[in-house]
Amino acid sequence: MRMRNKPWADDFLKSHPQIVDVDLNQQYKMAEWFEKDQPIHIEVGTGMGRFITEMARRHPEINYVAIERDKNVMVRVLEKVKELELENIKLINQDAKLLTEYFVENEVSRIYLNFSDPWPKTRHTKRRLTFSSFLEIYRHILKKDGQIHFKTDNQGLFEYSLESMSAFGMTFDLINLNLHENEPEENIRTEYEDKFSNRGFRIYRMEASFK
Ligand code: SAM
Repeated sequence: MRMRNKPWADDFLKSHPQIVDVDLNQQYKMAEWFEKDQPIHIEVGTGMGRFITEMARRHPEINYVAIERDKNVMVRVLEKVKELELENIKLINQDAKLLTEYFVENEVSRIYLNFSDPWPKTRHTKRRLTFSSFLEIYRHILKKDGQIHFKTDNQGLFEYSLESMSAFGMTFDLINLNLHENEPEENIRTEYEDKFSNRGFRIYRMEASFK
């Protein structure tokens, strides 16, 4: 996702308590950043945040954390959080490879990966958010019965992710090869989901766990 550079983005993000900015030399519990002690669900690569802000609005009984490394994009997420006056969401403007600095072991109940960048070139495989080094991070922070929910329009990335997760010993609780054929009422379309579905692309979805 490319967005025009906003020179004021850093100051804007830092001046809001929704942004979790930690001293990376210390270990924090993400739960301490929230008012209510309730399950934590995170989205990695949030983009402009329609999905996670709508989830937070519909599910006040869950604490949500959006992870997006692009500050210019994160500004849009923060604007939505403010507009909707959401209390149950925090934002991390960092690369997902640093997630273990923000969460302790077994802290997260669910991870959403929505329309992750496909990185189709073989030399970029390690950047895919379902590459083994990322799965290792997810396994560390996810509760034993936690799940990863993954959606994409990209068949290559979907197949790669099935293989990568399978090689990692993960199990699949659900695989849907055409989500919009019979779209569940509870499905929240992300910005990318709308864009690619409108262009006629099929949407793939899976739920997987480390059980
Ligand atoms: N999930 C959104 C959607 O479905 O509309 C955005 C999808 S967009 C293709 C992928 C987003 O993931 C981009 O905003 C990008 O900056 C972010 N991203 C990619 N790799 C990341 C990483 N390693 N850590 C954090 N964010 C990442």
